[in-house]
Amino acid sequence: MSVSGGRTRVGRYDLGRTLGEGTFAKVKFARNVDSGENVAIKILDKEKVLKHKMIAQIKREISTMKLIRHPNVIRMHEVMASKTKVYIVMDLVTGGELFDKIASRGRLKEDDARKYFQQLINAVDYCHSRGVYHRDLKPENLLLDANGILKVSDFGLSALSQQVRVISNKGYDGAKADLWSCGVILFILMAGYLPFEDSNLMPLYKKIFKADFSCPSWFSTSARKLIKKILDPNPSTRITIADLINNEWFKKGYQPPRFET
Ligand code: ADP
Ligand code: MG
Repeated sequence: MSVSGGRTRVGRYDLGRTLGEGTFAKVKFARNVDSGENVAIKILDKEKVLKHKMIAQIKREISTMKLIRHPNVIRMHEVMASKTKVYIVMDLVTGGELFDKIASRGRLKEDDARKYFQQLINAVDYCHSRGVYHRDLKPENLLLDANGILKVSDFGLSALSQQVRVISNKGYDGAKADLWSCGVILFILMAGYLPFEDSNLMPLYKKIFKADFSCPSWFSTSARKLIKKILDPNPSTRITIADLINNEWFKKGYQPPRFET
């Protein structure tokens, strides 16, 4: 890192304003001084990140992430490191968080929720087919580009996150866990609130493991049936992505992802 003319330079990038702040990372606007391309750079504190994590695992995940190219996944360009920080260079997206839409409108119409859910599943299915699991799918990681296309962030970065909330249970593999999270996200999009809520963890887990939730009156019958299959607490009976993609509710108006390379 160097500072020249009041600007902070990292590699070939000039750092700009802060776009967002997570619990363990800061995301800044940046510009590639050679190409003029605008990007987003996620800046992590090495000390915080590496305390409990294996560097080898992180390196493995990063090399896998570089292979991920999908219209609904924020692409990682490169990773740089200084003595104290890790810099993850990625696509800049400018449409904000999907959940700002819910915050302002309360909830989405079923057709709109389905449209985003289809894009989310496209991204998740693609990454899983390449052995990459998110493990931390949540509303804050769903961003929109300038055209309103859904972009999932942090795919494959679970090793970098100390706050991965794993509800540990043998047999829960990454794919099943990711799909369950997608079910929660779909519920939130359509309801405007969470399916499971409790200010204490144990009662919350109990609700999750008993699938103790109810769909609001405005959900269609076929949406209710599908959400029930996704939020099945037993991973071995939970619907698979393959079956989900063939579900009638899911298929309505489905558009396969458009790859541009
Ligand atoms: P953390 O995983 O530490 O919570 P995030 O990756 O969620 O950090 O980033 C925090 C915020 O920064 C996001 O909620 C979003 O508003 C913004 N942000 C993250 N990635 C990008 C990006 N590629 N382009 C634009 N803004 C981003
Ligand atoms: Mg995040």
